[in-house]
Formats: sequence, structure tokens, C-alpha cells
Amino acid sequence: MHHSSPAPESGPGSATAPPLCQVPPGVHPKVLRDELVAAAEWVSHYLAEVPAGAVHRPMTPVHRARLREPSLAPQGQELGQVLDFVREEIAPYPTGNGHPAFFAWVNSPPAPAGLIAELLACAVNATCGMGENALMDLERGTVRMLADLAGLPDTTGGVLTSGGSMANLLALATARTWFLTQHGAGDGPAYDRDHARLTLYYSAQAHMSVAKAAACIGLPAHRLRPVPTDHHDRLDPAALRTAVAADLDTGLLPFCTVTTLGTTATGAVDPIEPVTALCRETGMWHHADGAWGGLGAAVPALAPLYQGIGGIDSLTVDPHKTLSVPVGCGALLVPDPGNLHTAFAHQASYLTADEPGALPWLSHATIELTRPGTRALSLWATLNHLGRDGVTSLITHYLTLADQLRERITAEPRLELLAGGPWPVACFRITDPGSGDPDALHTRVARRVQAGGRAYLATVTTGGHTVLRACLCNYRTTSNDLDLLIREILHATRTGTDTDGGHPTASHRPTHR
Ligand SMILES: *Cc1c(COP(=O)(O)O)cnc(C)c1O
Repeated sequence: MHHSSPAPESGPGSATAPPLCQVPPGVHPKVLRDELVAAAEWVSHYLAEVPAGAVHRPMTPVHRARLREPSLAPQGQELGQVLDFVREEIAPYPTGNGHPAFFAWVNSPPAPAGLIAELLACAVNATCGMGENALMDLERGTVRMLADLAGLPDTTGGVLTSGGSMANLLALATARTWFLTQHGAGDGPAYDRDHARLTLYYSAQAHMSVAKAAACIGLPAHRLRPVPTDHHDRLDPAALRTAVAADLDTGLLPFCTVTTLGTTATGAVDPIEPVTALCRETGMWHHADGAWGGLGAAVPALAPLYQGIGGIDSLTVDPHKTLSVPVGCGALLVPDPGNLHTAFAHQASYLTADEPGALPWLSHATIELTRPGTRALSLWATLNHLGRDGVTSLITHYLTLADQLRERITAEPRLELLAGGPWPVACFRITDPGSGDPDALHTRVARRVQAGGRAYLATVTTGGHTVLRACLCNYRTTSNDLDLLIREILHATRTGTDTDGGHPTASHRPTHR
């Protein structure tokens, strides 16, 4: 009965009349409305309560098995059971990244404007790959807003992606096509010969998605050149120049260098201008991976490091990191967007030609054809809710908290600050690891803090050692959460054996919050 509708009396011409016949999954508009209201009430309550609950809760094996091996009943369920299922089985078990005391990875909580926009865009359900629709134009517009914040030129175009990994993949594919086209490789044996000699450079601190993207476009591992970094974890331009010269000498084809703006481990920003200069000299594409730190030009304290960003060939940014746009929203920005079309425009008879003067479809600038409009609307809504000043102050808020965290670590004799910055992260170690292996101790301490449920941090391997790492990317985090984190770490250091989970599982945070 649940799919049926209250029998409406409606004649032709009554504009608001519900349809007479609903085939599942359709429902009567009143049913839809009631369920949406219930869901909206639950969402606002849930988000308000997140800080009071555990950061992370372990799942039982039975629960995990239930989710991994569901069975589909012959009869459909009531619509409201979706909400029950999320409330009971899903929502209590996030990674923890909505919680203000989550410091582990660059995973943000959702911005309210983005959350609402996701639902609204789903209702419109436009596909941003083909035809003409308002959301596809809005995607073009949001790409321009990001480009403007990032300090890229007015000509910039691009696409929204599922995240930074996909943006890096699009960038390398674009760089490859651009380079081989420039090089006149054509499509015959010359292409095969040149493709086999393509060589890629990136800092040894680059995100693993760069090497993954290289593998996806068919570069073998022996054509990848991780370049040494300086003592601040920044790509060393002199080492890059030496590596490129050596490869040119042996007849290889250096086609692209990737810089990182905000390295994942320690938040470093690679030098931009010297890399662009070398790329111009040697005919390489300069891609900057700014998944975390791509919008630094919008922040006065960071802007000097972004001098010359307008001269790069492509930029990855990840609005689902710094801007809290709901996952997944990344972007690839390309100052000369014709290069994207050269790489990705393919024609097909079942996709009719554009009208004269129409802009190229966004599917001609990426891998996807049917593409969600949720990314564009949630990015647009989040940016507009913040305003330009709001973007600057949000990132500045993270920088300030990171400064405070690093100060607290420095002031605490039992901890030692090792690295971190300018992007908001701290890598640190326990000063006196006792007689055991310090790497194992750091792993154990992070695990105990996680199991305690009051805070959450991770480890990272830097300089050959596993150390503690905490980053700031939650707009709800306050300096009280920093104090809490330090307390939890010190507590986890003092107590427990290898198998001890630390505190009994905390379901509530201390009341002083
Ligand atoms: C997070 C990150 C990525 C990957 O982005 P996803 O959105 O997780 O795919 C790539 N590069 C850097 C520097 C990152 O911080």
C-alpha cells in the first residue's frame, strides 16, 4: 500500500493536481513532503549534537557484515525507512570528520549552505555534461569564482571533479596531449616512440594521487622523477633543473612538472615561479596540485608564496577540503581551457551537435558525460554564504588555530614539534619514548586516542620516522579542542599496554565544553 497515493479528485487544467497514477519509485507529493520535513528535522538535530558525542565509534563485526551483505526483499519499503536506517546504522559511525576534535586528515564537516544545495540540486537533477541547462552554466561560473580566488587569469576555464585525485588525473592527461601535440607526434609510430619517453617530475612530498594519475595515463614507474625537497619540505628547483637536464641528455622527454601547494604531510608550498621558468625553458607543462592549499592567494598571510601563480598551466583545488563543500567536490582550473578540449572532446552521432555559437559542453573538458549538478550548486551556495571575505577568514581561522596548536606543542616538554606549515598542520613526537621503538609508540598513541572517542589524530611518516600529525580543517574546532587533544595525547602516552585501547569508550565529551 505504501506506494499508492491518496486518490485525488483532479481534472485537466488543475495545475497543482497530483498525478493520478504513480509507478514506484514515485510517491504522492504529500508523502514526499512529510518525509523531507522529517529528514530535515533529523539533519539539523544530528549536526547540532555531533560535538557532544564520540568522535568515532567502532562498529561491531555483525553490524559491518549486515552492511556489506544486504539482501533485497521482494517488497519495497516505506520511504521513511531510509531515514530510520541512516539514523540507526550509518550516522553513528562516521570516520569522525564532522567532529570539532577530529584532527586526522583533511576531511571537513559539511558547510550548511552546501548541504541544503545538494538536496536542491538533486531535485533538479540536471546533468552537467550535455545540452544546455542552468546548472552547467553555473558550473562554468563557479570554476571562474575559484580561478579568481586562486589568482588565475580571466581566461581560465575548467571543470568540477569528484576530488583532487580526479583533477590531477585530468591534468596529467591534458599535459600529455598538449605536449605530444606541441611535439608534432601525430598518431603513428612517432606517437608510440615519444609516449615511451615522456618523463614526469614532482616533489618527493607530492600526494600519491600524482603517481597514481601517471600510472592511469600509461607512464611506467621508471619515467617518474620524485625530486628532492629542501629542509622545509619544498621542491628544490635546483634539483629539478638537474634532473630535467640529465633526462634531456639521455633523450627522454620531460613533459610536465607537478608542484604541490600545501603538502599533505607538512603543509609546505613549493616554489612556483622558478618551476614555471624552467617549464617555459624546456617546454614542460606546469601543473600545481593545490588540493589543500590552492586558494592561498586569497589569504594575505600566504599570498606572497603564491606570487606568479597566474603563470601556471593548470591547478587542482579541492573545495571539499578548505571550503567544507560536501564531499566530493574538486576542480581542475586551466588558464587556457582549449587544452582541456584538445584532450577530452570526442564526438558521437547520438550526441547532437551544439547550436552555432554555443559553448562547448562540459563533457568535452573531462572524462565524464552524465555529470552531477550537485557539485556546482553546493560550491556556489557555500561560496556565496561565505563571501570573498568569508573565504579568507575561514582559512585564516585554520592558520590561527594551527599556530596555537604548534605553540602548545612547543610549550609542552613531553612533546616536540617537528614540522608543519604554512598550511595548518603540526607534525610532532613524544620527547621521551622510553625504551621502546618511538615509531611504534606514536602509532600506539594515535590508536589509543582514536579509541578513546574524545579526539582523533593520525600518524605520518616524515624524515623516515612515524610521528603524530594533527591538521585543522573543521570550522567548528576551537582552542578548547586543541587543549583536549594535547590532554588526550599525554594521557595515551602515560597509560596502557600495547593492547589497551586507552579510555573506556567515551560516548560523551567532558562537560567543560
Ligand atoms: C587530498 C589531496 C589530494 C587528493 O584529493 P582527493 O579529493 O582526496 O581525491 C591530492 N593532492 C593533495 C595535495 C591533497 O591534499
